[in-house]
Amino acid sequence: MEKAVIYARQSSGSDDYSESVAVQIRNCRHLAEHSKLKVVAVFQDLNVSGKTYPEGWEALASSDHAFQSWFAMQTGSKSSRRGLGELFQTLAGVNYIIVDDITRLYRPLSRSFLEAAVNQYLIERSVRILQVKGGMLDLNQFDQQLITMLKNQINDEQIAKQRQRSIEVLNRLRDSGFMPTGVTAWGLRYLPVRKRIAVDPVKLPVIRYLFDRVDAGDSYNQIVHEVNARWGHLFRTCFWEKSLYQITSRPIYAGYQYNTAGELIKNRQWDGVVSLEQFQRVQEIMAKRREEGACPKGRGHHWMPLSGLLVCGACGSRLVSCVDDGRIAYRCKRGYFRGDNSCRGTRIMVDYDKPKLVGLLQLVRPVLPLGLAGASEGERCLFLGELRKRKMARDVFETLLTRALVRIEVYSGFVRLVPRREGVLLPDVPRFKLGRYTGFARSELARLRRHVRALTERAARTPEAPEKTRASA
Ligand SMILES: [Zn+2]
Repeated sequence: MEKAVIYARQSSGSDDYSESVAVQIRNCRHLAEHSKLKVVAVFQDLNVSGKTYPEGWEALASSDHAFQSWFAMQTGSKSSRRGLGELFQTLAGVNYIIVDDITRLYRPLSRSFLEAAVNQYLIERSVRILQVKGGMLDLNQFDQQLITMLKNQINDEQIAKQRQRSIEVLNRLRDSGFMPTGVTAWGLRYLPVRKRIAVDPVKLPVIRYLFDRVDAGDSYNQIVHEVNARWGHLFRTCFWEKSLYQITSRPIYAGYQYNTAGELIKNRQWDGVVSLEQFQRVQEIMAKRREEGACPKGRGHHWMPLSGLLVCGACGSRLVSCVDDGRIAYRCKRGYFRGDNSCRGTRIMVDYDKPKLVGLLQLVRPVLPLGLAGASEGERCLFLGELRKRKMARDVFETLLTRALVRIEVYSGFVRLVPRREGVLLPDVPRFKLGRYTGFARSELARLRRHVRALTERAARTPEAPEKTRASA
Protein backbone atom coordinates (compact mmCIF):
# COMPACT_ATOMS: atom_id res chain seq x y z
CA MET A 1 0.00 0.00 0.00
CA GLU A 2 1.42 3.37 -0.96
CA LYS A 3 1.96 5.87 1.83
CA ALA A 4 0.69 9.40 2.18
CA VAL A 5 0.98 12.29 4.61
CA ILE A 6 -1.72 14.90 5.02
CA TYR A 7 -1.02 18.61 5.25
CA ALA A 8 -3.59 21.19 6.32
CA ARG A 9 -3.15 24.91 6.83
CA GLN A 10 -5.38 27.72 7.91
CA SER A 11 -4.65 31.40 7.84
CA SER A 12 -6.39 34.30 9.50
CA GLY A 13 -5.53 36.52 6.52
CA SER A 14 -8.48 38.02 4.64
CA ASP A 15 -7.16 36.93 1.23
CA ASP A 16 -6.93 33.32 2.25
CA TYR A 17 -10.30 31.66 2.64
CA SER A 18 -10.17 27.97 3.44
CA GLU A 19 -12.05 25.19 5.11
CA SER A 20 -11.23 24.62 8.76
CA VAL A 21 -8.22 22.45 9.41
CA ALA A 22 -10.47 19.71 10.78
CA VAL A 23 -12.56 19.72 7.60
CA GLN A 24 -9.46 19.78 5.41
CA ILE A 25 -8.04 16.78 7.24
CA ARG A 26 -11.32 14.92 6.99
CA ASN A 27 -11.50 15.62 3.25
CA CYS A 28 -7.94 14.43 2.83
CA ARG A 29 -8.57 11.25 4.79
CA HIS A 30 -11.56 10.48 2.59
CA LEU A 31 -9.46 10.97 -0.49
CA ALA A 32 -6.69 8.76 0.90
CA GLU A 33 -9.15 6.02 1.57
CA HIS A 34 -10.73 6.38 -1.82
CA SER A 35 -7.30 6.27 -3.45
CA LYS A 36 -6.24 3.31 -1.30
CA LEU A 37 -3.38 5.21 0.31
CA LYS A 38 -2.18 4.64 3.82
CA VAL A 39 -2.00 7.85 5.84
CA VAL A 40 1.15 7.69 7.96
CA ALA A 41 1.10 11.18 9.44
CA VAL A 42 -0.92 14.40 9.55
CA PHE A 43 0.69 17.83 9.77
CA GLN A 44 -0.92 21.20 10.20
CA ASP A 45 -0.14 24.88 10.54
CA LEU A 46 -2.52 27.39 12.05
CA ASN A 47 -2.72 31.13 11.47
CA VAL A 48 0.14 31.26 9.05
CA SER A 49 0.32 32.34 5.45
CA GLY A 50 0.96 29.97 2.57
CA LYS A 51 3.66 32.34 1.40
CA THR A 52 5.91 31.46 4.33
CA TYR A 53 8.72 28.91 4.20
CA PRO A 54 8.84 25.67 6.16
CA GLU A 55 10.91 25.72 9.33
CA GLY A 56 14.51 24.77 8.53
CA TRP A 57 14.58 26.63 5.21
CA GLU A 58 15.61 29.93 6.80
CA ALA A 59 18.69 30.20 4.60
CA LEU A 60 16.63 30.19 1.44
CA ALA A 61 13.98 32.43 2.98
CA SER A 62 16.61 34.99 3.93
CA SER A 63 17.89 35.19 0.36
CA ASP A 64 14.36 35.46 -1.06
CA HIS A 65 13.95 39.20 -1.42
CA ALA A 66 10.41 39.01 -2.69
CA PHE A 67 9.43 37.04 0.39
CA GLN A 68 11.36 39.32 2.72
CA SER A 69 9.75 42.47 1.39
CA TRP A 70 6.30 40.89 1.49
CA PHE A 71 6.91 39.69 5.04
CA ALA A 72 8.09 43.11 6.18
CA MET A 73 4.62 44.44 5.29
CA GLN A 74 2.84 41.86 7.44
CA THR A 75 1.85 42.57 11.00
CA GLY A 76 2.56 40.06 13.72
CA SER A 77 2.35 36.96 11.60
CA LYS A 78 4.59 33.93 11.77
CA SER A 79 7.60 33.86 9.47
CA SER A 80 7.82 30.09 9.05
CA ARG A 81 5.73 26.95 9.18
CA ARG A 82 6.65 24.36 11.76
CA GLY A 83 4.17 21.74 10.56
CA LEU A 84 5.44 21.91 7.01
CA GLY A 85 9.03 21.77 8.25
CA GLU A 86 8.24 18.60 10.19
CA LEU A 87 6.48 17.15 7.18
CA PHE A 88 9.55 17.65 5.01
CA GLN A 89 11.65 15.85 7.62
CA THR A 90 9.49 12.75 7.48
CA LEU A 91 9.15 12.17 3.75
CA ALA A 92 11.28 9.02 3.65
CA GLY A 93 9.17 6.25 2.13
CA VAL A 94 6.22 8.57 1.52
CA ASN A 95 4.64 8.59 -1.96
CA TYR A 96 2.04 11.34 -1.66
CA ILE A 97 1.26 14.56 0.13
CA ILE A 98 -2.49 15.07 0.32
CA VAL A 99 -3.84 18.61 0.59
CA ASP A 100 -7.32 20.07 0.32
CA ASP A 101 -6.02 22.21 -2.50
CA ILE A 102 -2.57 23.30 -3.57
CA THR A 103 -2.83 26.74 -1.94
CA ARG A 104 -2.61 24.98 1.44
CA LEU A 105 0.96 24.03 0.53
CA TYR A 106 1.99 27.35 -1.01
CA ARG A 107 0.47 30.56 -2.23
CA PRO A 108 2.03 32.24 -5.24
CA LEU A 109 4.00 35.39 -4.52
CA SER A 110 5.62 36.95 -7.52
CA ARG A 111 9.38 36.47 -7.67
CA SER A 112 9.40 34.28 -4.54
CA PHE A 113 11.36 31.02 -4.65
CA LEU A 114 9.06 29.11 -2.33
CA GLU A 115 6.83 27.37 -4.84
CA ALA A 116 9.72 26.34 -7.07
CA ALA A 117 11.78 25.19 -4.09
CA VAL A 118 8.98 23.06 -2.69
CA ASN A 119 8.28 21.50 -6.08
CA GLN A 120 11.95 20.76 -6.67
CA TYR A 121 12.26 19.25 -3.23
CA LEU A 122 9.33 16.93 -3.87
CA ILE A 123 10.46 15.96 -7.38
CA GLU A 124 13.84 14.92 -6.01
CA ARG A 125 12.14 12.66 -3.49
CA SER A 126 9.55 11.36 -5.99
CA VAL A 127 6.72 12.61 -3.80
CA ARG A 128 3.52 13.51 -5.60
CA ILE A 129 0.87 16.00 -4.58
CA LEU A 130 -2.75 14.90 -4.44
CA GLN A 131 -5.43 17.56 -4.05
CA VAL A 132 -8.97 17.01 -2.82
CA LYS A 133 -10.01 19.87 -5.06
CA GLY A 134 -8.13 19.54 -8.31
CA GLY A 135 -6.69 16.03 -8.30
CA MET A 136 -3.11 14.99 -8.93
CA LEU A 137 -0.39 17.53 -9.61
CA ASP A 138 2.29 16.03 -11.79
CA LEU A 139 5.41 17.79 -10.65
CA ASN A 140 7.58 15.99 -13.17
CA GLN A 141 5.84 17.96 -15.84
CA PHE A 142 6.80 21.00 -13.90
CA ASP A 143 7.16 23.39 -16.82
CA GLN A 144 3.84 22.31 -18.22
CA GLN A 145 2.18 22.74 -14.87
CA LEU A 146 3.82 26.09 -14.37
CA ILE A 147 2.42 27.36 -17.62
CA THR A 148 -1.06 26.01 -17.00
CA MET A 149 -1.12 27.44 -13.54
CA LEU A 150 0.08 30.79 -14.65
CA LYS A 151 -2.42 30.98 -17.48
CA ASN A 152 -5.26 29.92 -15.28
CA GLN A 153 -4.53 31.60 -12.04
CA ILE A 154 -2.16 34.44 -12.38
CA ASN A 155 -2.32 35.47 -15.99
CA ASP A 156 0.95 37.25 -15.90
CA GLU A 157 3.70 36.20 -18.28
CA GLN A 158 6.25 38.26 -16.44
CA ILE A 159 5.79 36.18 -13.33
CA ALA A 160 6.24 33.01 -15.36
CA LYS A 161 9.71 34.11 -16.37
CA GLN A 162 10.53 35.07 -12.82
CA ARG A 163 9.46 31.68 -11.52
CA GLN A 164 11.47 29.88 -14.12
CA ARG A 165 14.40 32.04 -13.15
CA SER A 166 13.99 31.28 -9.49
CA ILE A 167 14.31 27.57 -10.27
CA GLU A 168 17.45 28.35 -12.19
CA VAL A 169 18.76 30.39 -9.29
CA LEU A 170 18.16 27.46 -6.96
CA ASN A 171 19.80 24.98 -9.30
CA ARG A 172 22.73 27.28 -9.91
CA LEU A 173 23.20 27.67 -6.17
CA ARG A 174 23.18 23.92 -5.70
CA ASP A 175 25.45 23.21 -8.66
CA SER A 176 27.94 25.74 -7.43
CA GLY A 177 28.26 23.97 -4.09
CA PHE A 178 25.70 25.72 -1.88
CA MET A 179 22.80 24.23 0.02
CA PRO A 180 19.92 26.40 -1.18
CA THR A 181 17.41 25.22 1.39
CA GLY A 182 19.61 25.32 4.46
CA VAL A 183 21.17 22.54 6.45
CA THR A 184 19.01 20.16 8.43
CA ALA A 185 21.70 17.60 9.25
CA TRP A 186 22.08 16.57 12.88
CA GLY A 187 24.77 18.50 14.72
CA LEU A 188 25.26 21.05 11.93
CA ARG A 189 24.21 24.68 12.03
CA TYR A 190 23.82 27.29 9.34
CA LEU A 191 25.34 30.68 10.04
CA PRO A 192 23.13 32.99 7.99
CA VAL A 193 25.35 36.09 8.07
CA ARG A 194 28.49 34.39 6.80
CA LYS A 195 26.49 31.82 4.81
CA ARG A 196 28.69 29.13 6.33
CA ILE A 197 28.01 25.78 7.93
CA ALA A 198 29.39 25.00 11.38
CA VAL A 199 29.43 21.92 13.55
CA ASP A 200 28.19 21.81 17.12
CA PRO A 201 31.40 20.95 19.06
CA VAL A 202 29.43 18.83 21.54
CA LYS A 203 27.98 16.66 18.78
CA LEU A 204 31.14 16.45 16.70
CA PRO A 205 32.58 13.41 18.55
CA VAL A 206 29.34 11.51 17.96
CA ILE A 207 29.42 12.16 14.22
CA ARG A 208 33.05 11.07 13.97
CA TYR A 209 32.35 8.04 16.14
CA LEU A 210 29.49 6.88 13.88
CA PHE A 211 31.55 7.08 10.71
CA ASP A 212 34.54 5.42 12.40
CA ARG A 213 32.53 2.53 13.84
CA VAL A 214 30.66 1.72 10.63
CA ASP A 215 33.94 2.03 8.78
CA ALA A 216 35.52 -0.43 11.22
CA GLY A 217 32.75 -2.94 10.57
CA ASP A 218 31.00 -2.81 13.96
CA SER A 219 27.43 -4.08 14.09
CA TYR A 220 24.69 -1.46 14.02
CA ASN A 221 23.27 -2.80 17.26
CA GLN A 222 26.59 -2.38 19.01
CA ILE A 223 26.94 1.18 17.74
CA VAL A 224 23.39 2.12 18.70
CA HIS A 225 23.90 0.76 22.22
CA GLU A 226 27.16 2.59 22.67
CA VAL A 227 25.83 5.92 21.39
CA ASN A 228 22.86 5.72 23.71
CA ALA A 229 25.07 4.88 26.65
CA ARG A 230 27.53 7.71 26.02
CA TRP A 231 25.55 10.44 24.30
CA GLY A 232 21.89 9.47 24.71
CA HIS A 233 21.15 12.87 26.28
CA LEU A 234 21.96 14.60 22.97
CA PHE A 235 18.98 12.99 21.23
CA ARG A 236 15.38 13.98 21.73
CA THR A 237 14.11 10.55 22.74
CA CYS A 238 16.73 8.02 21.86
CA PHE A 239 19.35 7.25 19.25
CA TRP A 240 17.87 4.68 16.87
CA GLU A 241 19.32 2.60 14.10
CA LYS A 242 17.37 4.90 11.79
CA SER A 243 19.23 7.90 13.24
CA LEU A 244 22.46 6.17 12.31
CA TYR A 245 21.53 5.90 8.62
CA GLN A 246 20.29 9.47 8.63
CA ILE A 247 23.71 10.69 9.66
CA THR A 248 26.09 8.33 7.87
CA SER A 249 24.33 8.68 4.51
CA ARG A 250 24.73 12.48 4.33
CA PRO A 251 27.76 13.65 2.34
CA ILE A 252 27.55 17.09 3.92
CA TYR A 253 29.45 15.67 6.92
CA ALA A 254 32.35 15.14 4.54
CA GLY A 255 31.92 18.64 3.11
CA TYR A 256 30.25 17.35 -0.05
CA GLN A 257 26.75 17.52 -1.50
CA TYR A 258 24.82 16.21 -4.48
CA ASN A 259 24.28 18.52 -7.43
CA THR A 260 21.15 18.56 -9.60
CA ALA A 261 22.60 15.76 -11.70
CA GLY A 262 23.01 13.63 -8.57
CA GLU A 263 26.81 13.81 -8.57
CA LEU A 264 28.91 14.44 -5.49
CA ILE A 265 30.42 17.90 -5.54
CA LYS A 266 32.38 19.91 -2.99
CA ASN A 267 30.24 22.06 -0.74
CA ARG A 268 31.60 25.59 -0.54
CA GLN A 269 30.16 26.48 2.83
CA TRP A 270 32.48 24.32 4.87
CA ASP A 271 35.05 21.50 4.79
CA GLY A 272 33.27 18.75 6.67
CA VAL A 273 34.41 16.67 9.63
CA VAL A 274 35.11 13.30 7.98
CA SER A 275 37.10 12.61 4.83
CA LEU A 276 35.44 11.98 1.49
CA GLU A 277 37.26 8.63 1.30
CA GLN A 278 35.79 7.54 4.61
CA PHE A 279 32.32 8.72 3.62
CA GLN A 280 32.49 6.68 0.43
CA ARG A 281 33.79 3.59 2.22
CA VAL A 282 30.90 3.86 4.69
CA GLN A 283 28.40 4.09 1.82
CA GLU A 284 29.81 0.88 0.34
CA ILE A 285 29.67 -0.94 3.67
CA MET A 286 26.09 0.15 4.28
CA ALA A 287 24.99 -0.77 0.77
CA LYS A 288 26.54 -4.20 1.17
CA ARG A 289 24.83 -4.74 4.50
CA ARG A 290 21.51 -3.65 3.04
CA GLU A 291 21.91 -6.29 0.39
CA GLU A 292 22.70 -8.89 3.00
CA GLY A 293 19.58 -7.89 4.87
CA ALA A 294 21.24 -6.33 7.90
CA CYS A 295 18.94 -3.38 7.54
CA PRO A 296 15.53 -4.21 8.97
CA LYS A 297 13.82 -1.92 6.46
CA GLY A 298 13.90 -4.62 3.83
CA ARG A 299 12.44 -7.27 6.04
CA GLY A 300 8.91 -5.99 6.31
CA HIS A 301 8.49 -3.64 9.19
CA HIS A 302 5.07 -3.69 10.80
CA TRP A 303 4.43 -7.34 10.35
CA MET A 304 2.67 -7.57 13.71
CA PRO A 305 -0.92 -6.44 14.16
CA LEU A 306 0.01 -3.61 16.51
CA SER A 307 3.47 -2.69 15.26
CA GLY A 308 3.88 1.04 15.28
CA LEU A 309 0.58 1.66 17.03
CA LEU A 310 1.58 1.40 20.67
CA VAL A 311 3.41 4.07 22.61
CA CYS A 312 5.28 3.94 25.87
CA GLY A 313 3.29 5.98 28.37
CA ALA A 314 6.43 6.95 30.25
CA CYS A 315 8.47 8.39 27.39
CA GLY A 316 6.24 8.50 24.30
CA SER A 317 8.43 6.20 22.20
CA ARG A 318 6.87 3.61 19.94
CA LEU A 319 6.98 0.09 21.24
CA VAL A 320 8.72 -2.65 19.33
CA SER A 321 8.03 -6.33 19.28
CA CYS A 322 10.33 -8.88 20.83
CA VAL A 323 10.15 -12.54 21.60
CA ASP A 324 9.74 -13.17 25.29
CA ASP A 325 9.83 -16.71 26.55
CA GLY A 326 8.65 -17.98 23.17
CA ARG A 327 5.76 -15.55 22.97
CA ILE A 328 5.57 -12.23 21.18
CA ALA A 329 5.54 -9.19 23.41
CA TYR A 330 6.04 -5.47 22.94
CA ARG A 331 8.42 -3.34 24.93
CA CYS A 332 9.80 0.18 24.96
CA LYS A 333 12.97 0.10 22.90
CA ARG A 334 14.16 3.32 24.43
CA GLY A 335 13.90 1.84 27.93
CA TYR A 336 15.85 -1.13 26.70
CA PHE A 337 18.56 0.94 25.03
CA ARG A 338 18.88 3.61 27.66
CA GLY A 339 18.33 1.42 30.68
CA ASP A 340 15.74 3.99 31.72
CA ASN A 341 13.92 2.63 34.77
CA SER A 342 10.74 4.58 34.07
CA CYS A 343 10.16 2.60 30.89
CA ARG A 344 11.90 -0.63 31.61
CA GLY A 345 8.66 -2.19 32.81
CA THR A 346 6.72 -1.09 29.74
CA ARG A 347 5.89 -4.46 28.34
CA ILE A 348 2.78 -6.13 27.02
CA MET A 349 1.55 -9.31 25.36
CA VAL A 350 -0.44 -8.67 22.27
CA ASP A 351 -2.18 -11.90 21.46
CA TYR A 352 -2.76 -13.89 24.58
CA ASP A 353 -5.96 -15.83 24.61
CA LYS A 354 -5.92 -18.00 27.68
CA PRO A 355 -8.89 -19.04 29.83
CA LYS A 356 -8.18 -16.40 32.45
CA LEU A 357 -6.16 -13.85 30.56
CA VAL A 358 -6.55 -11.89 27.36
CA GLY A 359 -3.99 -9.95 25.32
CA LEU A 360 -4.19 -6.39 24.13
CA LEU A 361 -5.81 -7.29 20.82
CA GLN A 362 -8.80 -8.73 22.62
CA LEU A 363 -8.97 -5.73 24.93
CA VAL A 364 -8.98 -3.24 22.07
CA ARG A 365 -11.62 -5.04 20.00
CA PRO A 366 -14.68 -3.58 21.79
CA VAL A 367 -13.43 -0.07 20.97
CA LEU A 368 -13.12 -0.69 17.25
CA PRO A 369 -16.82 -0.36 16.32
CA LEU A 370 -16.55 3.29 17.39
CA GLY A 371 -14.36 3.69 14.32
CA LEU A 372 -17.27 2.73 12.08
CA ALA A 373 -18.86 6.12 12.59
CA GLY A 374 -19.02 8.08 9.39
CA ALA A 375 -18.16 5.06 7.25
CA SER A 376 -20.05 4.60 4.02
CA GLU A 377 -22.48 1.70 3.69
CA GLY A 378 -20.00 -0.33 1.66
CA GLU A 379 -17.16 0.27 4.08
CA ARG A 380 -19.37 -0.55 7.02
CA CYS A 381 -20.23 -3.93 5.49
CA LEU A 382 -16.60 -4.68 4.81
CA PHE A 383 -15.44 -3.60 8.27
CA LEU A 384 -18.20 -5.45 10.08
CA GLY A 385 -17.26 -8.58 8.17
CA GLU A 386 -13.64 -8.14 9.24
CA LEU A 387 -14.64 -7.40 12.82
CA ARG A 388 -16.32 -10.78 13.06
CA LYS A 389 -13.18 -12.59 11.99
CA ARG A 390 -10.78 -13.85 14.59
CA LYS A 391 -7.80 -12.46 12.75
CA MET A 392 -8.53 -9.09 11.31
CA ALA A 393 -6.50 -7.57 8.47
CA ARG A 394 -3.97 -5.17 9.90
CA ASP A 395 -5.00 -2.20 7.78
CA VAL A 396 -8.66 -2.59 8.74
CA PHE A 397 -7.66 -2.82 12.35
CA GLU A 398 -5.49 0.25 12.09
CA THR A 399 -8.10 2.27 10.20
CA LEU A 400 -10.78 1.52 12.76
CA LEU A 401 -8.46 2.22 15.65
CA THR A 402 -7.39 5.53 14.16
CA ARG A 403 -10.95 6.54 13.41
CA ALA A 404 -12.01 5.67 16.92
CA LEU A 405 -9.37 8.27 17.77
CA VAL A 406 -7.73 5.99 20.24
CA ARG A 407 -4.08 6.00 21.12
CA ILE A 408 -2.82 3.10 23.16
CA GLU A 409 -0.39 3.98 25.92
CA VAL A 410 1.37 1.16 27.69
CA TYR A 411 2.78 1.70 31.16
CA SER A 412 4.42 -0.62 33.60
CA GLY A 413 1.46 -2.58 34.95
CA PHE A 414 -1.41 -0.90 33.11
CA VAL A 415 -2.68 0.43 29.79
CA ARG A 416 -4.67 3.52 28.87
CA LEU A 417 -6.79 4.00 25.76
CA VAL A 418 -6.54 7.73 25.23
CA PRO A 419 -8.66 9.88 22.94
CA ARG A 420 -6.55 11.80 20.45
CA ARG A 421 -8.59 14.95 20.77
CA GLU A 422 -9.92 16.06 24.07
CA GLY A 423 -13.62 15.70 24.57
CA VAL A 424 -14.07 13.31 21.69
CA LEU A 425 -15.26 9.78 22.33
CA LEU A 426 -13.45 8.78 25.49
CA PRO A 427 -13.79 11.70 27.89
CA ASP A 428 -12.51 9.88 30.94
CA VAL A 429 -9.67 7.50 30.55
CA PRO A 430 -9.72 4.47 32.80
CA ARG A 431 -6.64 2.39 33.40
CA PHE A 432 -6.73 -1.24 32.44
CA LYS A 433 -4.64 -3.33 34.75
CA LEU A 434 -2.05 -5.68 33.35
CA GLY A 435 -1.81 -8.93 35.22
CA ARG A 436 0.63 -11.77 35.22
CA TYR A 437 2.50 -12.33 31.96
CA THR A 438 1.44 -8.81 31.05
CA GLY A 439 -1.99 -9.93 29.88
CA PHE A 440 -5.37 -8.68 31.11
CA ALA A 441 -7.79 -10.43 33.42
CA ARG A 442 -11.11 -11.13 31.70
CA SER A 443 -12.81 -8.82 34.20
CA GLU A 444 -10.85 -5.94 32.68
CA LEU A 445 -12.27 -6.78 29.28
CA ALA A 446 -15.79 -6.74 30.72
CA ARG A 447 -15.04 -3.36 32.32
CA LEU A 448 -13.94 -1.91 28.98
CA ARG A 449 -17.07 -3.24 27.26
CA ARG A 450 -19.22 -1.49 29.86
CA HIS A 451 -17.23 1.69 29.42
CA VAL A 452 -17.67 1.72 25.65
CA ARG A 453 -21.37 0.98 25.99
CA ALA A 454 -21.81 3.88 28.40
CA LEU A 455 -19.98 6.14 26.02
CA THR A 456 -22.06 5.28 22.98
CA GLU A 457 -25.25 5.64 24.99
CA ARG A 458 -24.18 9.00 26.30
CA ALA A 459 -23.26 10.11 22.79
CA ALA A 460 -26.68 9.06 21.54
CA ARG A 461 -28.43 11.09 24.23
CA THR A 462 -26.44 14.27 23.62
CA PRO A 463 -28.10 16.22 20.81
CA GLU A 464 -24.96 18.28 20.12
CA ALA A 465 -22.74 15.22 19.94
CA PRO A 466 -20.31 15.23 17.04
CA GLU A 467 -21.54 13.41 13.97
CA LYS A 468 -19.06 10.58 14.41
CA THR A 469 -20.11 9.61 17.90
CA ARG A 470 -23.78 9.76 17.05
CA ALA A 471 -23.45 7.45 14.09
CA SER A 472 -21.65 4.84 16.14
CA ALA A 473 -24.43 4.58 18.70
ZN1 LIG B 1 9.66 4.32 27.25
